[in-house]
Amino acid sequence: MSRMSLPYFEENTEPLASRIATGLHKIGLAMKQQAWQQANEEGLSATQGQILAALATHGALTGSELSQRLGVTLPTISDSVRVLVEKTLVTKSPDPRHPRASLLTPTKKGAQLGARARSWPEFMAAAVADLRAEEQRAFFSGVVKMIRSLQDQGLIPVSGMCVTCVHFRPNVRPGATPHHCALVDAPLATEQVRLDCAEHELAAEAPRRELWEQFMRPV
Ligand code: SF4
Repeated sequence: MSRMSLPYFEENTEPLASRIATGLHKIGLAMKQQAWQQANEEGLSATQGQILAALATHGALTGSELSQRLGVTLPTISDSVRVLVEKTLVTKSPDPRHPRASLLTPTKKGAQLGARARSWPEFMAAAVADLRAEEQRAFFSGVVKMIRSLQDQGLIPVSGMCVTCVHFRPNVRPGATPHHCALVDAPLATEQVRLDCAEHELAAEAPRRELWEQFMRPV
């Protein structure tokens, strides 16, 4: 038997799930490094950049809403906001919805920086664009399922995703666009479901579970 035919890799390869996790870890490091580098070029920390990007996307938010959306603790948000206010990138005003909370609004310069910060993951989009269409669809479906699992474990904020939204109607028809958004009354395909929708409204816990079960049950 030649050396090549030995089942070396059958005996010495970790399960695929472990190797995917290793790959994601490497991608995560690259994203973190890029975010730091690009934030530094703008004279910001990565969290300050994320805050400006969120405000540029969603409009004025409170510190608690930012904390929920970004999955960052409230004290960290408060520290970053204090610096952003000092740099005149963000202003604070009373929140008409909650008398004791402040609404954070980006200034013109803050909104410009936020719009630039929003494009920081573009290097990743360019790498994903190298995948074939069917690879992208499978990857996206896997990413949605992974995010949902991490949300269940409390490791990712439960916001922005169709599959946790009161307006989402999963698998209501056969065909290429099986889902429906009741807010805009429009059908959507699985690869069109949103991960960071500004109009998202969080469903309660029990309906969220039902939405997910229905999403996983194609018609
Ligand atoms: S409002 Fe946004 S998150 Fe909710 S179902 Fe419609 S597209 Fe999805």
